[in-house]
Amino acid sequence: MSYAYDPTNIFARILRGEIPNKTVLETPYSLAFEDIRPQAPVHVLVIPKGPYVSYDHFAREASEAEIVDFTRAIGEVCKRAGVALDGGNGFRAVANAGMDGVQEVPHLHVHIMGGRDLGRMLQ
Ligand code: 5GP
Repeated sequence: MSYAYDPTNIFARILRGEIPNKTVLETPYSLAFEDIRPQAPVHVLVIPKGPYVSYDHFAREASEAEIVDFTRAIGEVCKRAGVALDGGNGFRAVANAGMDGVQEVPHLHVHIMGGRDLGRMLQ
Protein backbone atom coordinates (compact mmCIF):
# COMPACT_ATOMS: atom_id res chain seq x y z
CA MET A 1 0.00 0.00 0.00
CA SER A 2 1.11 3.56 -0.61
CA TYR A 3 -0.18 6.85 0.72
CA ALA A 4 -2.86 8.57 -1.37
CA TYR A 5 -2.53 12.35 -1.55
CA ASP A 6 -5.46 14.42 -2.85
CA PRO A 7 -4.05 17.51 -4.63
CA THR A 8 -7.46 19.25 -4.48
CA ASN A 9 -7.35 19.60 -0.67
CA ILE A 10 -7.64 23.12 0.75
CA PHE A 11 -4.02 23.37 1.94
CA ALA A 12 -2.72 22.29 -1.48
CA ARG A 13 -4.82 25.13 -2.88
CA ILE A 14 -3.33 27.55 -0.33
CA LEU A 15 0.16 26.39 -1.39
CA ARG A 16 -0.72 27.04 -5.04
CA GLY A 17 -1.88 30.57 -4.13
CA GLU A 18 -5.50 29.82 -5.08
CA ILE A 19 -6.82 30.67 -1.60
CA PRO A 20 -5.51 33.51 0.61
CA ASN A 21 -3.94 32.87 3.99
CA LYS A 22 -2.43 34.87 6.82
CA THR A 23 1.19 33.72 6.54
CA VAL A 24 3.27 33.66 9.72
CA LEU A 25 6.40 32.10 8.22
CA GLU A 26 7.55 30.74 4.88
CA THR A 27 10.71 28.66 4.46
CA PRO A 28 12.01 26.66 1.46
CA TYR A 29 10.01 23.54 2.42
CA SER A 30 7.34 24.78 4.85
CA LEU A 31 4.54 27.31 5.30
CA ALA A 32 2.89 28.49 8.54
CA PHE A 33 -0.38 30.44 8.63
CA GLU A 34 -3.18 31.39 11.01
CA ASP A 35 -5.97 28.85 11.49
CA ILE A 36 -9.23 30.23 10.07
CA ARG A 37 -11.19 29.04 13.16
CA PRO A 38 -8.75 29.67 16.03
CA GLN A 39 -9.27 27.60 19.18
CA ALA A 40 -6.83 29.70 21.23
CA PRO A 41 -5.26 33.18 21.09
CA VAL A 42 -2.35 31.56 19.24
CA HIS A 43 -3.45 29.00 16.64
CA VAL A 44 -1.04 28.54 13.76
CA LEU A 45 -0.91 25.66 11.26
CA VAL A 46 2.52 24.57 10.05
CA ILE A 47 2.56 22.52 6.84
CA PRO A 48 5.25 21.05 4.63
CA LYS A 49 5.09 22.23 1.00
CA GLY A 50 5.46 18.65 -0.21
CA PRO A 51 2.44 16.39 -0.86
CA TYR A 52 2.24 14.53 2.45
CA VAL A 53 -1.11 13.48 3.86
CA SER A 54 -0.08 12.90 7.47
CA TYR A 55 2.82 12.90 9.90
CA ASP A 56 3.56 9.21 9.38
CA HIS A 57 3.64 9.76 5.61
CA PHE A 58 6.03 12.71 6.04
CA ALA A 59 8.27 10.96 8.58
CA ARG A 60 8.63 7.93 6.32
CA GLU A 61 8.99 9.55 2.91
CA ALA A 62 10.20 13.16 3.22
CA SER A 63 13.85 14.03 2.64
CA GLU A 64 16.09 14.96 5.54
CA ALA A 65 16.15 18.55 4.25
CA GLU A 66 12.33 18.73 4.40
CA ILE A 67 12.21 17.19 7.87
CA VAL A 68 14.84 19.56 9.26
CA ASP A 69 13.16 22.57 7.63
CA PHE A 70 9.72 21.61 8.96
CA THR A 71 10.98 20.96 12.48
CA ARG A 72 12.88 24.26 12.54
CA ALA A 73 9.80 26.06 11.15
CA ILE A 74 7.75 24.77 14.11
CA GLY A 75 10.40 26.11 16.50
CA GLU A 76 10.48 29.48 14.75
CA VAL A 77 6.67 29.77 14.80
CA CYS A 78 6.63 29.09 18.55
CA LYS A 79 9.27 31.76 19.05
CA ARG A 80 7.51 34.36 16.86
CA ALA A 81 4.14 33.67 18.51
CA GLY A 82 5.69 34.14 21.96
CA VAL A 83 4.79 30.66 23.20
CA ALA A 84 8.26 29.06 23.13
CA LEU A 85 9.58 28.10 26.55
CA ASP A 86 12.43 30.61 26.44
CA GLY A 87 10.17 33.44 27.50
CA GLY A 88 6.65 32.21 26.76
CA ASN A 89 4.18 30.07 28.68
CA GLY A 90 4.13 27.09 26.35
CA PHE A 91 1.90 25.58 23.71
CA ARG A 92 0.33 22.40 22.39
CA ALA A 93 1.42 20.84 19.08
CA VAL A 94 -1.15 18.50 17.50
CA ALA A 95 -1.20 16.61 14.20
CA ASN A 96 -4.48 14.79 13.53
CA ALA A 97 -4.36 11.92 11.05
CA GLY A 98 -7.04 9.99 9.24
CA MET A 99 -10.47 8.89 10.34
CA ASP A 100 -9.71 8.01 13.94
CA GLY A 101 -7.65 11.19 14.33
CA VAL A 102 -10.59 13.13 12.87
CA GLN A 103 -8.41 14.90 10.29
CA GLU A 104 -10.41 17.45 8.29
CA VAL A 105 -7.77 18.51 5.76
CA PRO A 106 -5.72 15.64 4.23
CA HIS A 107 -2.42 17.54 4.02
CA LEU A 108 -0.09 17.22 7.03
CA HIS A 109 -0.46 20.16 9.39
CA VAL A 110 0.76 20.66 12.93
CA HIS A 111 -1.50 22.88 15.03
CA ILE A 112 0.47 25.18 17.34
CA MET A 113 -1.92 26.45 20.00
CA GLY A 114 -1.23 28.62 22.99
CA GLY A 115 -1.81 31.95 24.65
CA ARG A 116 -4.14 30.48 27.28
CA ASP A 117 -4.27 27.51 29.65
CA LEU A 118 -5.30 24.72 27.27
CA GLY A 119 -6.29 22.28 30.00
CA ARG A 120 -5.28 18.64 30.12
CA MET A 121 -5.64 16.80 26.82
CA LEU A 122 -5.07 13.28 28.18
CA GLN A 123 -6.81 12.20 31.39
P1 5GP B 1 -7.73 19.07 11.25
O1 5GP B 1 -9.05 18.74 11.86
O2 5GP B 1 -7.57 18.54 9.85
O3 5GP B 1 -6.57 18.71 12.16
O4 5GP B 1 -7.66 20.65 11.21
C1 5GP B 1 -7.91 21.40 10.07
C2 5GP B 1 -7.80 22.85 10.47
O5 5GP B 1 -7.75 23.63 9.30
C3 5GP B 1 -8.99 23.36 11.31
O6 5GP B 1 -8.50 23.88 12.55
C4 5GP B 1 -9.61 24.44 10.42
O7 5GP B 1 -10.08 25.54 11.16
C5 5GP B 1 -8.48 24.80 9.50
N1 5GP B 1 -8.90 25.26 8.19
C6 5GP B 1 -9.82 24.66 7.36
N2 5GP B 1 -9.94 25.34 6.21
C7 5GP B 1 -9.07 26.39 6.30
C8 5GP B 1 -8.74 27.45 5.41
O8 5GP B 1 -9.27 27.57 4.30
N3 5GP B 1 -7.80 28.33 5.84
C9 5GP B 1 -7.20 28.23 7.07
N4 5GP B 1 -6.29 29.15 7.40
N5 5GP B 1 -7.49 27.23 7.93
C10 5GP B 1 -8.41 26.33 7.55
